[in-house]
Amino acid sequence: MSDIPATARPRSVATKTTPVADAGATATSVATGIAAPAASLYVHIPYCHAKCPYCDFNSYAATEWPEDRYADALLAELGTHRSTEPWRDTMLATIFFGGGTPSLFRPATIARLLDGIAARWRVAADAEITLEGASPAFAPPG
Ligand code: SF4
Repeated sequence: MSDIPATARPRSVATKTTPVADAGATATSVATGIAAPAASLYVHIPYCHAKCPYCDFNSYAATEWPEDRYADALLAELGTHRSTEPWRDTMLATIFFGGGTPSLFRPATIARLLDGIAARWRVAADAEITLEGASPAFAPPG
């Protein structure tokens, strides 16, 4: 990895996609079986059907959202991080889609994001992948 001391590394480097180095941890590549320093990736999707009165998160009530353009922007931002120290040689051990309500995005969009992440970063064989959701998005009324 880089020669930047762990204590000097940024905990977050962007508002939308945020890789975070897991100091001292390693993960193993699906493709090569090679271990590398591990990182966690947080992907922020900021849209919700309504804004909860107690919510302090960076989220916005919407009935429509620029899903494809937002995914394009996330992947472009991720590509920038992928080639930048200290993230260049890390391997993703966890991927977390938070929000907002990421389950509002179409499964095809989440799949495109995961494919794009895997094309830009090495992903651990046993990577943990999480997606936050709201029950109406998983089981619409009606
Ligand atoms: S669903 Fe979550 S992120 Fe969205 S407004 Fe409510 S508390 Fe905030």
